[in-house]
Amino acid sequence: MTGSGSWRNWAGNQRATGVDVVHPSGADEIAAALRRAAATGRRVRPVGSGHSFTAIARPDDVQLVLDRHAGLVDVDDAGLVTVQAGMPLHRLNVELAARGWALTNLGDIDRQTVSGALSTGTHGTGARFGGLATQIRALELVLADGSRLRCSADEHPDVFAAARVGLGALGVIDTVTLQAEPAFALRAEERPARLGELLDGFEEFMSSTDHVEFYWFPHTDRCLTKRNTRLPPGAELEPLPRWRAVWEDEVLSNAVFAGVVAAGRRVPALIPPLAAVSARALGARTWTDASHRVFVSRRRVRFVEMEYAVPRDAAPAVLAELHRVATAGEFRAAFPVEVRVAAADDIAPSTASGRDTAYIAAHVPARTDPGSWFAALESVAGSVGGRPHWGKLHGLDVDALRSRYPRFDEFTALRARLDPAGVLGNAHLDRVLGPVAG
Ligand SMILES: Cc1cc2nc3c(=O)[nH]c(=O)nc-3n(C[C@H](O)[C@H](O)[C@H](O)COP(=O)(O)OP(=O)(O)OC[C@H]3O[C@@H](n4cnc5c(N)ncnc54)[C@H](O)[C@@H]3O)c2cc1C
Repeated sequence: MTGSGSWRNWAGNQRATGVDVVHPSGADEIAAALRRAAATGRRVRPVGSGHSFTAIARPDDVQLVLDRHAGLVDVDDAGLVTVQAGMPLHRLNVELAARGWALTNLGDIDRQTVSGALSTGTHGTGARFGGLATQIRALELVLADGSRLRCSADEHPDVFAAARVGLGALGVIDTVTLQAEPAFALRAEERPARLGELLDGFEEFMSSTDHVEFYWFPHTDRCLTKRNTRLPPGAELEPLPRWRAVWEDEVLSNAVFAGVVAAGRRVPALIPPLAAVSARALGARTWTDASHRVFVSRRRVRFVEMEYAVPRDAAPAVLAELHRVATAGEFRAAFPVEVRVAAADDIAPSTASGRDTAYIAAHVPARTDPGSWFAALESVAGSVGGRPHWGKLHGLDVDALRSRYPRFDEFTALRARLDPAGVLGNAHLDRVLGPVAG
């Protein structure tokens, strides 16, 4: 299926018009689309569900939409699950749960495709746990010349070391094999806390149970903490009563924020008092549910986001400085800052490559200027070697990024080898990786 079309991402800050849109089904059709583009000197972008805030998925010429290549291939007795590239995470979670399996860790939402999420280094939280890409056991790629390559720890390990966070620059993912684990429940505990106490005992708090994160409401010292503890098999589920889930997750989390955002747009001076109200409205609660239902929330209020990965031990100082900037500066930030952690991994372009990491994310409403708020995060995180999430807004170019990743040139050399003509590229990849040097 081919046609001409336009595209915009979830946040609405990235758009493309007049692109060739191809919906391949199967590796042969992916290969044919790549060969056709290469022969006519056009560049190709596979796209997931458009949840990246950067222009990483924005097509220059040809867009590959993998909605006809989105099935479950296999789940074996050891929990190795193989899916086609376009499978959305929310469908995979349901397919796995029906068979008694679950993914080890997830981010905040499940609307992304598996390949899209993996390709930008999507992560959740957990001091002992890596991002989603650390769950990959094998990848089948269709390379820019239409040939196939399977990589794993044993097959083309040099490709596997990079392609698990491949930025859509090394090949089009055909299938992914992930290691699932027996389905488990999480006990979720949400509590208010003060920023000062969290920063004083940051490492202890963030590793106080399996999956810990907190939201800090700028212009206040108020935070909401979330601690999710993995429970042994057979644990009894105590999900939130339906009315409470709707009230707290839909009405308070989404609608209260929508109100704050709308009011803040009109009168920025209202944001600090409204942030304090939001923080107070989200009180303590505890519940137990299947892991994927606890990890994931709905995000109805559209926003744009910047997120920096910093060495974990530098996070308290970064947050203290951001607090100082938020208090002293003119900018009024309506959305909370989200703070998460991950274990070091061995994937060259991963934001947690080679170091235990804390993630610090700032958000502003869609269609507003992030102005000095994102600039402040970028500057403070940059002073400690922060690495921006590949799917979230940042202002760095190839030279700045090279200085933040010891194995950066490993990735660009592999790209030049696998795609010497730069078929899998776009203007954004030219900025963050440089033009392909074949
Ligand atoms: C509301 C919201 C919440 C979010 N929460 C989190 C979170 O908790 N944690 C986190 O880390 N991030 C989070 N993100 C960011 C998001 O997970 C990433 O941007 C992710 O890459 C989006 O996946 P997608 O399917 O939309 O891919 P897209 O944004 O469409 O594409 C991302 C990249 O994947 C590539 N790609 C897609 N398919 C293929 C393929 N078959 N082969 C090769 N490359 C491919 C694209 O070319 C592009 O480079 C969030 C984003 C939003 C909007």
